[in-house]
Amino acid sequence: MRIKGIPRKRKTPRTKILHYAYPTLERGQCERILSELARRQELVKAGNNDCCGNGPHTPGTVRVMPAGGDSNLILCRACWQRELTYRRERNRELGDDFRFSLPAWETAKVYRTV
Ligand SMILES: [Zn+2]
Repeated sequence: MRIKGIPRKRKTPRTKILHYAYPTLERGQCERILSELARRQELVKAGNNDCCGNGPHTPGTVRVMPAGGDSNLILCRACWQRELTYRRERNRELGDDFRFSLPAWETAKVYRTV
C-alpha cells in the first residue's frame, strides 16, 4: 500500500548491489555473474544440475563418471546409482575384458556444485 506523500522505496538493482560489494568488478562482469547465478537457480528449481542422466535427479553436485575412451558422464547422485545398477547387471553378461568399471560416487571428481 502506498501512503500519499511518502515516496515509494525504490528497489536497488542487483547489479548495483554486487558492484557495491565488489567494487573491482566491472558492470559487465556483475551482469554475467548474476545471469549465471540465475541459470543455476533455475537448474536447482528444475531439480537438475546439468546431469546427463534421465532423472529423477538429486539437486546439488554432479560428478564425472568415466564412460570409456575419452568420454565421461556427468551425473547427479541418483543417476549415478542407477548407472551403477545398470552396469552391474550388464557386467554379469559381459566377458572379463569388457566389463564396465564401477566407480564410487564418494571418490569421483566433482564437476559442478550449485
Ligand atoms: Zn541426474
